Amino acid sequence: MVHANDRIEVLLDAAAIQERVRALGERIEADYRGKALTVLGVLKGSVFFLADLLRHVQIPLRLDFLRASSYGNKTVSSGIVQLSAVEGAFEGRHVLIVDDILDSGRTLHTIRREIERLSPASVKTCVLVDKKVERAVELEADYRAFEIPNVFIVGYGLDYAEHYRNLPYIAVLSPGGAES
Ligand code: 5GP
Ligand code: MG
Repeated sequence: MVHANDRIEVLLDAAAIQERVRALGERIEADYRGKALTVLGVLKGSVFFLADLLRHVQIPLRLDFLRASSYGNKTVSSGIVQLSAVEGAFEGRHVLIVDDILDSGRTLHTIRREIERLSPASVKTCVLVDKKVERAVELEADYRAFEIPNVFIVGYGLDYAEHYRNLPYIAVLSPGGAES
């Protein structure tokens, strides 16, 4: 699983992730009970988190997706966020945007602005991991499972150059190759 020269160190094990995700799902279920909820998943990083989370949100909801990406394969974001076309039911609905990680804040800020133009009843954000860094834009997550320091992580949906998404745990990556 680990690619040549890369080093990984487990930060959050599978059991710890499942426990926190369950608790977060139960909170979201309680908060959105009786409301018209649209969950908007951000591809690709959120898919493992989202699938586990929604198993603990047992109320009626719609699930839609969009694709967000920053250019490049590096461990540092380029700052340019590209979004796919936004499709789904948002007008008059309570929208919960779910992403893997909040770092500079640019991704969720960009998505949030797009959704707000579609007359939703409310827009909130939910992330698996909240990185304790200075944001490039003003945005804090409404729901978060974990807070971590400023390290680069992979696993449980999170990639490094499209690898490691399928790790069942989250690990800190020290890339090998030219960067080490
Ligand atoms: P932001 O737009 O908040 O700077 O960053 C959000 C996006 O950057 C995430 O959806 C993710 O794709 C990427 N990202 C930020 N930090 C990490 C990290 O530690 N590991 C991985 N794999 N991706 C990250
Ligand atoms: Mg991402």
